Amino acid sequence: MDRRSFLKTSALGGSAAAASTLAAPAYAQGKRTLTMVTSWPRGFAVLDDAATYMENMVSEMSDGTLTIDKKAPGELVGALEVFDAVTSGQADMYHSADYYFIGQHPGYAYFTAVPFGGTAQEVSNWYYHGGGEQLHDELGSIFNLKGLLAGNSGSQSGGWFRKEINSAADFNGLKFRMPGLGGQVLGKLGASVQNIPGGELYQALSSGALDGLEWVGPMADERAGFQEVAKVYYTAGFHEPGSALSSSVNLDVWNELTDQHKAILRYASMATTQFQLAETLANNGAALARLQAQGVKTMQFSDDVWDAFGKASAEVMDGYMDDPLFAKIRESFEASLANSASWINKSDGYYVQQRVRVLGG
Ligand code: CA
Repeated sequence: MDRRSFLKTSALGGSAAAASTLAAPAYAQGKRTLTMVTSWPRGFAVLDDAATYMENMVSEMSDGTLTIDKKAPGELVGALEVFDAVTSGQADMYHSADYYFIGQHPGYAYFTAVPFGGTAQEVSNWYYHGGGEQLHDELGSIFNLKGLLAGNSGSQSGGWFRKEINSAADFNGLKFRMPGLGGQVLGKLGASVQNIPGGELYQALSSGALDGLEWVGPMADERAGFQEVAKVYYTAGFHEPGSALSSSVNLDVWNELTDQHKAILRYASMATTQFQLAETLANNGAALARLQAQGVKTMQFSDDVWDAFGKASAEVMDGYMDDPLFAKIRESFEASLANSASWINKSDGYYVQQRVRVLGG
């Protein structure tokens, strides 16, 4: 008997009064604890911060009637096993990045980041006002999951290298870590691409198992210590311009929650996205200055390299269009992005250019 069946049986076997006052049979004395498996070691900047915000917000908003028991990699399952743990009911929810699960369905890329995709705000525009949340649920229904986005790490860095990238040909044979569809793009340029969990990256780069890697951005990367083993840092990347995190819930567990607890999870996940994105963006500039002070050379890829990223990205995306749900998600996402872009270039983009021109920055 699994844990949920046991709880259902227990509740049904309880007193009639208790059963009549409980909205969902999985509750014990009106309280519910959800086991949340994460892909982040405890204390990992940005990523575990988001999971911890979510954990704390849910407890505070529910006055302790709904709590999250967070499990780091290895405490219940491995970092990249969290999806299967939640779909199978071994855990109640996960906190991770959905693009780790493109092997389960390539559409999951859109719920973290896709090459040449949206900024953090554009991802939220699509998710909450462009049909993204409904598509997350449609995709999740295949795997018995209720989709929730909870966190966004903003525009991610192009990555850490031991030597400069002067042309797209320099990716040929490079042992590089990049998850999701972005990794497949570098694969088209000849890189040997691996997806290694965050907690194992420093060792892989130190030992030479990797020639380079992308992780998040200055705040998270500094904490991980990559500046100790690589000195060339490309600050802008094509692969994750606004990378969302996910705290999806087993659908059976979700359906047993009270409406109030469902709302708390949904609004806590939205608040986590905003709070954690602000944390990241508030700290990246100072972290970048500290990295430079430690001898890190910051660079941008040339236009030729960006063009090669763009050509290979289109090939990767087009390769999945035989899947109707992938095609539906891509169409929805790109329509929202076009709508966002039609304004952002004329407003935020232009304004920031002018502000920097007038005030510096
Ligand atoms: Ca990343």
